[in-house]
Amino acid sequence: MRRILWFRRDLRVEDNPLLLFEGEVLPIFIFDTEILSSLTHNDRRVAFIFHAVVQLKSALQTIGLDLAIFYGNPTDVFKSILQNSPYDEVCASGDYDNYACERDRNISHLLPFTFVHDTYIFKPDEILKNDDTPYLVFTPYYNRAKILFQPVHQYEYRHTSQQLISFDYQVLHKIDDTRETFHPIKLEQIGFIPQSLTHDQLTSPQQKLDLFAAQLSNYSVKRDFMALSATSGLSTDLRFGTISIRAILRWLTAQKEKGIDTEPFFRQLIFRDFYAMLLYHFPHLAHQNFRYNFRGIENNEFFNAFCAAKTGVPIVDAGIRQLLETGEMHNRVRMIVASFFTKNLLLPWQWGEAFFAKYLMDYDAASNILSWQWSAGTGIDPQPYFRIFNPYTQSQKFDKDGLYTHRWLKDATPIPQIVDHKESSERALKYFKRSL
Ligand SMILES: Cc1cc2nc3c(=O)[nH]c(=O)nc-3n(C[C@H](O)[C@H](O)[C@H](O)COP(=O)(O)OP(=O)(O)OC[C@H]3O[C@@H](n4cnc5c(N)ncnc54)[C@H](O)[C@@H]3O)c2cc1C
Repeated sequence: MRRILWFRRDLRVEDNPLLLFEGEVLPIFIFDTEILSSLTHNDRRVAFIFHAVVQLKSALQTIGLDLAIFYGNPTDVFKSILQNSPYDEVCASGDYDNYACERDRNISHLLPFTFVHDTYIFKPDEILKNDDTPYLVFTPYYNRAKILFQPVHQYEYRHTSQQLISFDYQVLHKIDDTRETFHPIKLEQIGFIPQSLTHDQLTSPQQKLDLFAAQLSNYSVKRDFMALSATSGLSTDLRFGTISIRAILRWLTAQKEKGIDTEPFFRQLIFRDFYAMLLYHFPHLAHQNFRYNFRGIENNEFFNAFCAAKTGVPIVDAGIRQLLETGEMHNRVRMIVASFFTKNLLLPWQWGEAFFAKYLMDYDAASNILSWQWSAGTGIDPQPYFRIFNPYTQSQKFDKDGLYTHRWLKDATPIPQIVDHKESSERALKYFKRSL
């Protein structure tokens, strides 16, 4: 068998089921112009992925393989590869957001497509209600996940011996329609400029786990305090698969055996699965509300002030500054900011989702869309639409000494708030009731 191994959200050699197929293989990565064309040339994520792809290439070389790197539209890339030599199938791990499903469908018309399960703990249809429909409420889904969780879900895949297909691995293959050109493997060659990544972003996932070990027992108590480093910081690694979810679960099991309460952290990992499962079963949620007809009120003045960190609400502006400067934002701050956006500013959640999508390092369609719908009160199992976070009491509770806010706003001149919390909350409640 001659197989193409297509790496996408699994940029690692360790514990990668793609490396289990015996026979001849052509490992590839595609810088997808469909995605890249909408990004600015200083996008941090592309710099991160480029770094991870180069590391993957070196890691594959250490086991006698290599990585062919392409730049182009995936369909064109596959046509070009198949034009030069025959292949029996393409193997890749399942990727479930709308664009990924359509992309993979197109490729499956060119070549048989074998999916391996890798990105999540459970397959999207592995946890269903008794009537075989998806769970719509997190807690019963979570309870079922705990019952169904078995050793197989944390199985470690060890690579087998594969024969590398002869190919030009030394260059970047740019495919433009049917035309192929060869270039040095450099970030600039795909139209992006190197970015300085933060220390955390350059820390390996294994080091992150080692550091997080000391925090795990206090995770449930401390995870909401934004000035602390009390969470794992693994979301970007999980997004691009620079660590396998099963490796995290094995690590978690080892912690549990030491007597540490691992459940609060496991619960968050299941949240990630839950959101991926929901978007897989309900793809229209990418744009449409699951419930209620709230559309928000389009207001460019509010939106521009929000995106420029100029709302005058310190915790909100601090969160946006953190996002713009690093591509990251603490989970509690994301919740406060999204509530402020959809309720106090009454803007359409889709605008906020798109803004986060542009800057978040860990941007993941399912987690981002479903979290925005949760904040707006329009999603599956959302926060009630009438619950509006007060950003000031939230800051008082989770950033009492103002350390987080000061860290991101220290050189900013205080500005008046664009909306008053009480008035804007009343306006939102009236709007929601009218729309019901
Ligand atoms: C409005 C909004 C948008 C969000 N957008 C994204 C996004 O695009 N990508 C993303 O990965 N997360 C998103 N989240 C969830 C959460 O904020 C991040 O996963 C978390 O902050 C990442 O930090 P961490 O890795 O230290 O998390 P930890 O607390 O260490 O959690 C471990 C892992 O569990 C998963 N996880 C944790 N909390 C959640 C959650 N609430 N929902 C889903 N998965 C979770 C993540 O994969 C995370 O890496 C969003 C949350 C909100 C409120």
